[in-house]
Amino acid sequence: MSSKVKSRDRAYAWALAALSFVMAINTGFIQAAEPAAFSGERAMELLIEQTSMGPRTPGSVGNLELRELIITKARQSGLKVQTHIFTSEMPLGNSPVELCNVIVSAGPEGSGAGPRLWLGAHFDTRPISDKDPDILLREKPLVGANDGASGVAVLLHLMELLAQKAPAVGVDLLFFDGEDSGINGSPNTYCIGSQRLASTLGDFSNPLSGLQCEGLILLDMIGDRDLLIPMEGYSARNAPAFTEKVFKRATDLGLSAFSTSVGPSVYDDHVPFLQQGIPAVDLIDFQFPHWHTTADIPENCSAASLYQVGTLVTDLVYNR
Ligand SMILES: [Zn+2]
Repeated sequence: MSSKVKSRDRAYAWALAALSFVMAINTGFIQAAEPAAFSGERAMELLIEQTSMGPRTPGSVGNLELRELIITKARQSGLKVQTHIFTSEMPLGNSPVELCNVIVSAGPEGSGAGPRLWLGAHFDTRPISDKDPDILLREKPLVGANDGASGVAVLLHLMELLAQKAPAVGVDLLFFDGEDSGINGSPNTYCIGSQRLASTLGDFSNPLSGLQCEGLILLDMIGDRDLLIPMEGYSARNAPAFTEKVFKRATDLGLSAFSTSVGPSVYDDHVPFLQQGIPAVDLIDFQFPHWHTTADIPENCSAASLYQVGTLVTDLVYNR
């Protein structure tokens, strides 16, 4: 082989190396631009992290700890975070308690950016286990693995995805406080945080004031191992187009936990928004045998269920 051929070979080899380097950069760039797929396992870790804080009853150490975790995680993810703080009497207690809704925002802002998508979950837990089969346990607070932590876990993991890739349209994650301290039979004594947030949307100091919103998707009790989410009654009747859009997307994605039959009507954090004329859908599996008992623990939840709901909302965030 002549030296001329060798140098041509070397030049060819260098060109090939340079080309593969460019391809590697391009491939890396494409991977970075694509949001990572929603991981049910990661969401399950975030669910367990919450329950390890103990009960998150309004005003408790656990509640404050989780509030701080949400705020810190949002800041570390480079997302905008705002708090909506007020003091309220609690139906199941005497003294007034400071409640705090946390609002985490991603994507473009401003009038030209189009209507935003709101995703919500309550981060507080119920102070009593009043449905527990053991009467001696009914005064105990619960850790709310499904009723509280499941929806929050999906939103916390979504924050991690939003940190990797901003959505084309604005998204606000609403973490509600004071949802689950109500008295049975008196719906208005529940959902104190969302009631205050929704009823003051016209106030300048409200973090959601003046925002155009396509709708609110509420996640509550979505970690049940045996997950089946029908169309919640208030959502189906008061926001039929938005509800159908969300459930159609679940069908298109082949997510088997969703059913287009209409299920029970549940007074939940979406109702105060429906009352303000904002489309809202509650994704909830109300057939949870451990609801408001001391057995609402991680062992009765599953990563596969969190994956179903997380995959749906991630798709709706990035592909409106
Ligand atoms: Zn509850």
